[in-house]
Amino acid sequence: MAAETVRFAPSPTGWLHLGHAYSAWFADQRRANGKFLLRIEDIDSARTRPEYVQGIFEDLSWLGIQWEDPPIFQSSRTSAYLSSLDQLKDLEVVYPCFCSRAEISNALRAPHSTEPHYPGTCRKLTTSESDAKIASGAPYALRLDLTRAEARTGPLEWADRRRGLQVIPFSALSDPVLSRKDAPTSYHLSSVTDDAETGVSLVTRGSELFESTHIHRILQALLGFPTPEYEHHPLVGDAHGNRLAKRDSSISLRSLREAGISPTEVIARARGQLIDGS
Ligand code: GLU
Repeated sequence: MAAETVRFAPSPTGWLHLGHAYSAWFADQRRANGKFLLRIEDIDSARTRPEYVQGIFEDLSWLGIQWEDPPIFQSSRTSAYLSSLDQLKDLEVVYPCFCSRAEISNALRAPHSTEPHYPGTCRKLTTSESDAKIASGAPYALRLDLTRAEARTGPLEWADRRRGLQVIPFSALSDPVLSRKDAPTSYHLSSVTDDAETGVSLVTRGSELFESTHIHRILQALLGFPTPEYEHHPLVGDAHGNRLAKRDSSISLRSLREAGISPTEVIARARGQLIDGS
């Protein structure tokens, strides 16, 4: 296997669990003799807690995973994300969105994400209409206009090591948030900027983020970033094959450790509980 630069990018909003252990182990396997970067995705300041950051360091060390020092904290990289955002603004593919979650009536969950499907309401506002709303002090997020993005990039593809070549279904995607009302960036923008600027050659992560990669590939094309390889791995389920509930503290790595389970047993258990087809 070729040496790769991989990353593990947990959000410090809870204790790491069996699914994280598998994901970190998987990235470590794929690095071969390459680099393992640790990225703390702490842009959500309301949900981030310092004890969870410390917990990530402790749990990974206990698992025997070594990362390149120093870890990357997204909270300290705002200027890099703003520079990506400025580039996108210059390309005129960004628009302000004033909708509240409640107003997004068609609030079907997109398959990938924490974001409800967005029907494109504010994309139809004229510049003077949005300028007036901004002047009145209305809070807004910034979204990527996928119609304009596609006009710039043309058709795009990316490859997943497990699932092969993917053609981006532009018209089936919802305009993603690039900068939130409460944060100057978003998961998509910060993830793509960091993967590019830290030289990640292979992105490994759980298959729940598969659909996000369409957005990431589009952002890479617009920003002139290279496209890494991707490998989305199956998700770890519970003993009955159901998805793990993030809030289920019984499967946190620290509770398994306290119960006397070894790191080797943790990885074996995670590998034995992969959900088929995920
Ligand atoms: N921070 C994300 C999570 O904990 C992972 C993002 C990624 O690997 O791209 O689910």
